[in-house]
Amino acid sequence: MILLLEPDIDRQSEQFRRLIEHLDGLQGINHRTHQVRGSQQTLTEIYLIGDTAALDVDDMRALPGVERVIRVSDSYRVLGRHRDDQRSSEFHYNGVTFSQDSFHVFAGLCAVDNPTNVERMFRALQEHGQTCARMGAYKPRTNPYSFQGHGKECLPWVFELAGKYGIRVLAMEITHDRHIEEIEDALAQTGNPTGVMLQIGTRNTQNFELLKHVGRQTRFPVLLKRGFGITLEESLNAAEYLASEGNSHVIFALRGMKTNMGDPHRNFVDFAHVPVVKRLTRMPVCIDPSHSVGTRAACPEGILDMMHVTAQGVIAGANMVLVDFHPEPARALVDGPQALTMDELPWFLQDVALAREAYLQRRELSRRHHADNPL
Ligand code: PEP
Ligand code: MN
Repeated sequence: MILLLEPDIDRQSEQFRRLIEHLDGLQGINHRTHQVRGSQQTLTEIYLIGDTAALDVDDMRALPGVERVIRVSDSYRVLGRHRDDQRSSEFHYNGVTFSQDSFHVFAGLCAVDNPTNVERMFRALQEHGQTCARMGAYKPRTNPYSFQGHGKECLPWVFELAGKYGIRVLAMEITHDRHIEEIEDALAQTGNPTGVMLQIGTRNTQNFELLKHVGRQTRFPVLLKRGFGITLEESLNAAEYLASEGNSHVIFALRGMKTNMGDPHRNFVDFAHVPVVKRLTRMPVCIDPSHSVGTRAACPEGILDMMHVTAQGVIAGANMVLVDFHPEPARALVDGPQALTMDELPWFLQDVALAREAYLQRRELSRRHHADNPL
């Protein structure tokens, strides 16, 4: 059960103290307080865990400071979408808004290699009006002898270049909790020229200790990749780990699944699950066409498979696209064969904009249908 308190309630107030005293007295029930800081107000939510079936919703609503009560029906207590649950998923980070209605492209290098290529990437993004990007500094690799990423050494110049070209949010994978400190140090050293969205890779989706560490910090939002060989429920529970530790600014990324059914694509594209995740949870949903398709194969009409699947995810309501680009894919240190090139950037962005426009029109069509045909 979730108690939604009156906005901006003071946790030092007599009202709040009386509420907590009452909750402390409930047998077999533990409670945990979460604060959600929005742009206008701070919302306080109290999660009741244990034998909540015995609690009466009306009694709970009558407690001091309580505005609304939600009976949680599913396992994703914080991030789930429960019955009568109108809570918004929106959050703001470094001037950028994320929600199940927003839309952003995070194009960039799978792995940072040198300042020239990073600068070429950021410059191209700025020329095309983009304020977000992807940049991998810590690379988890299947082969221990493969390039592992430049790590903390590259962070200061990557952040400075991002700031120079107006990039506000960089999606950057971390593989160890130590990397959060390294990112914080580099941001401080360079005067916070940009922001970072911490990415948890598909190989770490069930690294519970990492999830707990990342969930305990609230400075950076998190991009959680779906695990490539586990159920959707298991991956959504991984996202809930982050939220249960205190960070509910989580974006859920679909990036394809491993199958034994052959391999026209690197992974089996799972973007049909965009609406499923939006229905089950309040998280914005990202799609990663690069790591799902993994090749530059194109259809006879000339459209790359990666662009086809991107359009499919966007027309189904995806809120974010994470995509690999590289100025010289043949020389990229990681994942060159799936990178799009700088001259493909405007084509890609226009193609994506068409799909987004089609989604918005489909949403409006659905709204009109339901308005004309009430239940
Ligand atoms: C990546 O986005 O760079 C990446 C390694 O993705 P994934 O964890 O989905 O394989
Ligand atoms: Mn990659």
